[in-house]
Amino acid sequence: MSAILQAPSASPNNPSPPGPGGPAAANAAAASFASLTARLDYLSPPDLEQVRQAYRFADEAHLGQLRNSGEPYITHPIAVAAQCAEWKLDAQALMAALLHDALEDCGVSKAELIERFGSPVAELVDGLTKLDKLQFNTREESQAESFRKMLLAMARDVRVILIKLADRSHNMRTLADVPRSKWARIASETQEIYAPIAYRLGLNQTYRELQDLSFRHLHPWRHAVLEKALERARNRRRDLIQKVRKEVETAFESANMSVRIGGREKTLYSIYRKMDEKHLSFAQITDMYGFRLLVPNQSDCYTAMGTLHQLYKPVPGKFKDHIAIPKLNGYQSLHTTLVGPSGVTIEFQIRTEAMHVVAESGVAAHWLYKANEPDSPMTARLGAQWLQSLLDIQNETRDAAEFWDHVKVDLFPDAVYVFTPKSRILALPRGATVVDFAYAIHSDIGDRTMAARVNGEQVPLRTELKNGDVVEVVTASVSAPNPAWLSFVRTGRARSKIRHHLKTLAQTESEGLGEKLLLQALRAEGIERFPTDDSTSAGIWDKLLRFTGNRNRSELLVDIGLGKRIAGIVAKRMATLLSESGEKPNAVLMTRERFNAESSGHSTVIVDGSENASVQYASCCRPIPGDVIVGYLGRGEGLVVHAEDCAVARKLHNKDSERFIGVEWSDEPTRAFETGIVVTVNNGKGVLARVASALAASEADIIHIDMGQEAAQETTDLRFVIAVRDRQHLATALRNLQRTSSVLQARRCTAAGA
Ligand code: MN
Repeated sequence: MSAILQAPSASPNNPSPPGPGGPAAANAAAASFASLTARLDYLSPPDLEQVRQAYRFADEAHLGQLRNSGEPYITHPIAVAAQCAEWKLDAQALMAALLHDALEDCGVSKAELIERFGSPVAELVDGLTKLDKLQFNTREESQAESFRKMLLAMARDVRVILIKLADRSHNMRTLADVPRSKWARIASETQEIYAPIAYRLGLNQTYRELQDLSFRHLHPWRHAVLEKALERARNRRRDLIQKVRKEVETAFESANMSVRIGGREKTLYSIYRKMDEKHLSFAQITDMYGFRLLVPNQSDCYTAMGTLHQLYKPVPGKFKDHIAIPKLNGYQSLHTTLVGPSGVTIEFQIRTEAMHVVAESGVAAHWLYKANEPDSPMTARLGAQWLQSLLDIQNETRDAAEFWDHVKVDLFPDAVYVFTPKSRILALPRGATVVDFAYAIHSDIGDRTMAARVNGEQVPLRTELKNGDVVEVVTASVSAPNPAWLSFVRTGRARSKIRHHLKTLAQTESEGLGEKLLLQALRAEGIERFPTDDSTSAGIWDKLLRFTGNRNRSELLVDIGLGKRIAGIVAKRMATLLSESGEKPNAVLMTRERFNAESSGHSTVIVDGSENASVQYASCCRPIPGDVIVGYLGRGEGLVVHAEDCAVARKLHNKDSERFIGVEWSDEPTRAFETGIVVTVNNGKGVLARVASALAASEADIIHIDMGQEAAQETTDLRFVIAVRDRQHLATALRNLQRTSSVLQARRCTAAGA
C-alpha cells in the first residue's frame, strides 16, 4: 500500500501498536491533543490556544462515545483536524474540524458554539452539519441532481468543503470498521460525489486516495487481486527502476542541475479503470511507474526535459506542456514518456516545487501559500481557478440560474467574482455595480452602457453584483456616461473614466454653446460671421485672445459657454478690432438684430432637451415646453433655463440682469421634461396606487414621490416629480388625476422658489 493511504493521525512514534488485547495506550495517544500540536507550528500562540479550547470542548462533548473500531470518538475529529493542518488551514477551520460532529451528535447548540468560539467557527460547523444531512442516493435521484445540491450547500465557504473532504477521507480510511452492508453506499457516494469535487478543486492527493478507497470497498475482490499483481510487478521492476533513477541522477549531476527525483506509481484504481476502459490485461499496462522531477524554477523545467531527452529517446506524441496550458483545476507540469533501458517506457513529470504544491493540494495551496507569502499573485490566481472549476461543475448541471442563486463564495471577502456571458471571470471589489463591470471589460463598453442583464434579468445599472452573477452589458452607440453614475460606482477605474468623459463632453458642448452665443452677440454688432481664416483675421483673433487672456480660441468659446465671460463684451471688442483693420459692420444686420434683441429681451438660444452638461433645467421651477422661459448664464455652470415667472429667476435678474439671455423651446423637443405636481387626496387605503395608475394611464413617468407626513389627518398632499412632453401633456395628466376617486385636487407645483 502506498504511503498516501496511511491515516495521518497514526502516530509514527507510537510504541505499542494497537491490537485486540490492549489498545488503551495507543487510543489515549491518538485521542490526545499532543498528537496534533506538532502539525500546528504555523499557528500563532493565541490561535493555538483557541484550537486547544475547541479540542477540550469536543473531547468533553464526545466523552463516552466510540468509533466503530472501539476507539474513543475524539480520534476522528483529531484526524480530520490533522488533515486540515496538512493543508495549513486557519485556526477557525481547525476549530470547526474538531467540533464538526459536536452539533449533531452531542446535543450542543449552535448558540453555544457562537458564544464559546465566535460566529465564524459556528457557521462553519453549521455548514458541515447541514452537509451531513444531504445523503446521496443513486436509486432515488439522478447523479447530477445530487451533485448539484451538494455543491449548493457547500460553496458558501470553501473551508467547509475542505473540512468535509478531510472528514470523508478519514471515514474512508476507517471504513473497514463499519458494517459491510454500508460499504457500497458510502463508497459509491465517495466515488461519485466527493472524489470529483476533490479533483475539481485540484486536491489530487485526496482525489487519488478517495478513488482508491472507494474502489477497495466497492470491489474488494478485484482490488485484492490487482494489489497482489501490482506488488509482484513492483518486485520484478525494482532493479530496473533503481537503474533508471541512477542514470537520471548521474545525467543531472553532470549537467550541474539540482533536481529532486521522486518515483510515482499509478494508483490501483487508475490501473483498474484503464484496464476496464481499454480492455487491457494487467500485463498490458506499461505506464505503472514514473518519475517526478522537481526543479527550482519554470525555465529549469524545459532545460530538465532537454537533459532527459538526451538520456533516453522520447516516445513521439507523448509530450504534453501543462505549464503553458494548465489544466482547469490549476495543475501545471511537463509530461513526457521516454524509452528507458530494455525498451521499457517510463513517464516523467517535470515541475517546480510551487507547481507541485498546487498539483497535490489544489485550492488548499491558497492557505499553504498564504501562510508563507500573503498577497502573492499565486494566491489570487488560485482563487480564480477554483471558481473556474466551480463553473465547470455548474456546466455539468442543468439549472444554472438556480445554482448560482445559492452559491455564496466567501473565500475572498473583499472581492466578488462575476462572469461575462462567455464565462470569463472578473474580480471586482465588493459593492461593485454593473457600471464598474462594464468599465472593467473596456472603457468603450463602459462609456456606451445603456442597460444590463444579470443572470438573464434586466436590472438597473446601479445594481450591486453578487458572487457568481453572469453579467451582460447592453451598449448603444448613442449612450453616454451619466453624471449620476458617479454616485454609485465603486472602482477607481470607472470613476476616472466617467469623469474624463463628462469633462470632455462638457468642453465640447460648452464650446458649441459659446460659439452660438458669440455669433449672436457679433450680429448685434453688425458682424455676420467670425472673421475668415486669413492672416488679417488670425491677427484679430490673437489680439482678442490677448484681451481675454485665453490661450486659444476654443478655450475662449468654452469660457463664454460656461458663463465665465460675457459674449456681448467679447463681441464688442472684436467689432472694434475689425473696424480698426478696416472692416465695417453691416448696418442693416446690426439694426435688425438690435431691434429683435430689444423686442424679445435679448438674442435667443433654442433648447430641445438634447443638451447635456451645458444646459440645465432649473429644479426650482422645472420648466416644460410651452412655458415661457429665460436663460441665466451662471458663473461656470453653463446655461440654466428657468420659467419666466420663477421667483428664483426674478431675484437673479434683479442682481445680475446682464447674465440673462433669451431662450426658446425648439418646435420638436427631443425628450420628456421633469416637472412637479401636488395631488391632494383623501387619506385611505390604495390611494397612492390609484394615483400612480392614473399617471401611468396618462403616460407620465413618475420620477420621484414625496408623501405628506400628516397621516392622521383626513387629507394629504402627495408631491410628485413626473416627466411630461409639454404643457398640454401635463394638463391631460392633471385632468385624469382630477377624475380619479379620492383625489380632491391636482395642480402643478411651483412652490419651491415662491
Ligand atoms: Mn465526521
